[in-house]
Amino acid sequence: MAKYIFVTGGVTSSLGKGIIAASLAKLLQARGLTTTIQKFDPYINVDPGTMNPYEHGECYVTEDGAETDLDLGHYERFLNIHTTQANNVTTGSIYQTVINRERAGDYLGKTVQVIPHITDEIKRRMKLLGDSNKYDVILTEIGGTVGDIESLPFIEAVRQLQWEMPEEDCLVVHLTLIPYLKAAKELKTKPTQHSVKLLSENGVHPDILVCRTERPLSEEIKRKLALFCNVKQDSVIEAMDASTIYEVPIAMLKEKLDVIVLKKLNITNYNEPELDKWKGFLDKLKHPKYKVTIGLIGKYIELQDAYKSILESFIHAGAMNECKVQVVNVHSEFITEDNVGEKLSELDGLLVAPGFGNRGVEGKIIAVQYARENNLPFFGICLGMQMAAIEFARNVLHIPDANSTEMQPTTANPVIDMMEEQKKITMKGGTMRLGSYPCIIKENSLAFQIYGKTDISERHRHRWEFNNAYLSQFENAGMIASGINPETGLVEIIELPMHPFFIGVQYHPELKSTVENPQPIFVSFIKYAKEFAEAKHSIKNSLLQSEMI
Ligand code: GLN
Repeated sequence: MAKYIFVTGGVTSSLGKGIIAASLAKLLQARGLTTTIQKFDPYINVDPGTMNPYEHGECYVTEDGAETDLDLGHYERFLNIHTTQANNVTTGSIYQTVINRERAGDYLGKTVQVIPHITDEIKRRMKLLGDSNKYDVILTEIGGTVGDIESLPFIEAVRQLQWEMPEEDCLVVHLTLIPYLKAAKELKTKPTQHSVKLLSENGVHPDILVCRTERPLSEEIKRKLALFCNVKQDSVIEAMDASTIYEVPIAMLKEKLDVIVLKKLNITNYNEPELDKWKGFLDKLKHPKYKVTIGLIGKYIELQDAYKSILESFIHAGAMNECKVQVVNVHSEFITEDNVGEKLSELDGLLVAPGFGNRGVEGKIIAVQYARENNLPFFGICLGMQMAAIEFARNVLHIPDANSTEMQPTTANPVIDMMEEQKKITMKGGTMRLGSYPCIIKENSLAFQIYGKTDISERHRHRWEFNNAYLSQFENAGMIASGINPETGLVEIIELPMHPFFIGVQYHPELKSTVENPQPIFVSFIKYAKEFAEAKHSIKNSLLQSEMI
């Protein structure tokens, strides 16, 4: 029988429920328990796949091809596990199931209502992963903030589950904010008292309060919070702002969050926490010996969440290389032939990001050309790989009108074309080529050197692909397809053997990077960027020396 932990949020959004949930799950996992995390989002979209990154940040894709909330990325990166379609549920998907059932006549004769029909479906989904008997503990993060109209059915479902289950099988962790008022020079507990009151009005009482704060909580403040929020004093947990999210599990360990949870859930069979690998990673992360500057070329750069998994992959790969990765965001819309040198000259590596639509693509193509011609380590992901193919076609194969039919549907030279099976698709949600597909890597390639094997599988999210009608022209001119999907022949990896490090991938390697298993292309990219930086440095030094002579 699985035990359940629900994580709710109060006072304000963006407190980091996902990180707290992932940190707690990490500690339980480190103690030998099997855990997973799921996220319940109150919005009406069936999934976040159709939302603009400005609205919702990155869309994270699971192995089984679900388009999900970016918090699932944190869960995977912390726990080193795979999540699935079942780990992300939205109000939209709940209603879709209930309405489909109603249309099928399953509720014949009945009025379909929020309680019990919607809440029953929420409860069924909350218990779905637990029913598989694979997990000791299931954490469920409830999106939104307590008090939102939209999240009420989820809170009601938690109330009912708590009522249905033995007390020791289920608990609620409430994440809240203790603001510091400069004028009063005081930490304030009132917003937390109000949010706990709101939660209690809906019938759910938190067992543990995790308090985000800029300053340490005194015993007196903890006592006050405990008294007015009606929780035990040892269940008031301080969560001070951390320098990196990867510090949070260690901070929660110090605060004994895991011990309190184990006690409340009456779990007796656990080990001392095994966190050596995690601590080793943190140590390297905090004490880098080298530094590289990587340009991230994208069009959503104002919003860091849009490229969350890429940025986290750099952190993992940086630590692996004992190297601080400074990411410089370069807006692709503002790159021109005239300013490209000035914008990219300080870089040690260039990553052209995934994306959709026309905006900013020409800037991406100019950036790729700069990297190719200047031996700057280059890594293109999805749209970034497609732009690398277009750049090569235009500037090396001399096909000036080469394009993707996504950008120019009538181009005479569609070196990137829509996949055949995509052409008949009319619905937008969940219809791209999604999730994990195999790829066979050619030996004697950069990709083989990176992965160290020929058979890999990576995750995807795209509708366009490299047009194989042009492949022999590309290969004759020096750009090779070093990774191919074995069933369809779809080009998964392109590279330039003449260049020190130039690789473009149709898939999204950033979705599989975890603290314990950094993604190999990122690791290798940083290694080459380090070499590039060192070479630049020694050239500069020898120039200086020769000037001195
Ligand atoms: N827009 C491109 C496609 O659909 C690339 C997608 C992406 O970068 N994820 O093929």
